[in-house]
Amino acid sequence: MTDLSDDELDRYARHIVLPQLGGIGQRRLKSASIVVIGAGGIGSAAIPALAGAGIGRLTIVDDGSVDRSNLQRQTIFRDDQVGELKAQLAARFVSALNPHVEAIAVQERLRTDNVEELIGGHDLILDGSDNFATRLAVSDCATRLHIPLVSAAAIQFQGQITLFRGWEADKPCYRCFVGDAFDAEDCDTCAEQGVLGALAATAGSFAALIAIRALAGIGADVAGSLFLFDGLALDWRKIRLPKDKGCSACAPPRNGEGDHEA
Ligand SMILES: [Zn+2]
Repeated sequence: MTDLSDDELDRYARHIVLPQLGGIGQRRLKSASIVVIGAGGIGSAAIPALAGAGIGRLTIVDDGSVDRSNLQRQTIFRDDQVGELKAQLAARFVSALNPHVEAIAVQERLRTDNVEELIGGHDLILDGSDNFATRLAVSDCATRLHIPLVSAAAIQFQGQITLFRGWEADKPCYRCFVGDAFDAEDCDTCAEQGVLGALAATAGSFAALIAIRALAGIGADVAGSLFLFDGLALDWRKIRLPKDKGCSACAPPRNGEGDHEA
């Protein structure tokens, strides 16, 4: 791991003073790479938190441009940027906030045929995308490549955040959670049902916290636990998700499967 410069020691002083994090944890963050899927309401809160925390490389995947109706929750963008490409604006935001972070903009729609190319080579994935098809494609690939996935969603007043490591024997993947029914679905749920901006930001910040803890190696391991936030009751719940033994993405092959010698 590379050492921290004087500027970085200054910049991260409030991190380094934390006994659980210290200089070692900060250097782990600097050595790490994260791919953020979606520069929407979740990404708008997660991206500044990750950039400020000094994650070494941040890749931002988004194929959209800023719409005026985004600005209520996607607060890294400005009114005078309506119509501009979100991935590039978000990467520029990261570089302006922290020049020590390598920011990469990927202006592409993530599909099953490009997902491996886009997320491969990263230490962690933070998925704040807005549809099930993307989420399932990301999860299946993350499970295959053994990359931890922080999945975050926000709708109306509900936030859901989970860290997945589905390749592990007792840990579920995102597909264990939602099943196979949503592969074909591609709906912009925010447009249809609405979401409170600050609620999306709560979910995005919490997702960034889980990512930073995982990469710095601090705190309890929360893989497989679903965190549910109710923005009306103002209540957090934690639910342990079971692994689906028949999951098409992460279940181990049954006895005899893969044995082609009849
Ligand atoms: Zn699974």
